[in-house]
Amino acid sequence: MKIICIGRNYADHAAELKNELPSEPVIFCKPDTALLPKNHPFIYPDHTNDLHFELELVLRIKKVGKHIDRAFAQKYYEEVGLGIDFTARDTQQKCKEKGLPWEKAKAFDHSAPLGQKFVKLQDLSNSNSINFELKKNGETVQQGNSSLMLFPFDVIVSEVSKYFTLKIGDLIFTGTPKGVGPVVKGDVLEGFLEREKLLHLEVK
Ligand code: MG
Repeated sequence: MKIICIGRNYADHAAELKNELPSEPVIFCKPDTALLPKNHPFIYPDHTNDLHFELELVLRIKKVGKHIDRAFAQKYYEEVGLGIDFTARDTQQKCKEKGLPWEKAKAFDHSAPLGQKFVKLQDLSNSNSINFELKKNGETVQQGNSSLMLFPFDVIVSEVSKYFTLKIGDLIFTGTPKGVGPVVKGDVLEGFLEREKLLHLEVK
């Protein structure tokens, strides 16, 4: 399986990092080693001094597809979950300045922990307006709603599938709202989707 991530998909987050709004989705990938195995502690990586959380809605692909038309994109996913797109912001800044790829900042081991389960979109009261929230040490630091995405789910699936064949089990991180920030050892992150807690992670 592969992990595909969308960058700058919320205007308020693009603004906080002083990025221009993209005219098409910003796409990057993480390898499967970016997942955090179940019951495995999350260890603060030693290659960064500025590790940031980015809480994101994650789609799980349920059908193989390539060149998927927007109008049919819904047939390729039915579940959404939460994940953290951990980012070594110091490394990313250096990569950006030099025009280099972001993998060292974004795709390292355990940089994409997932919540404990996915939920069916049909079970949500409004699958076009999904609220999600991240608490750090009990305080809300990020609050998002999927209706604020610059590129909604169907556009993302269609655009991504122009370049990558989507396969069953592939994950798409759909971008983070504003409020990203650093973590330190001992921090506890909790992710909520429509008030249901799906993600719990302690930084060791
Ligand atoms: Mg992100």
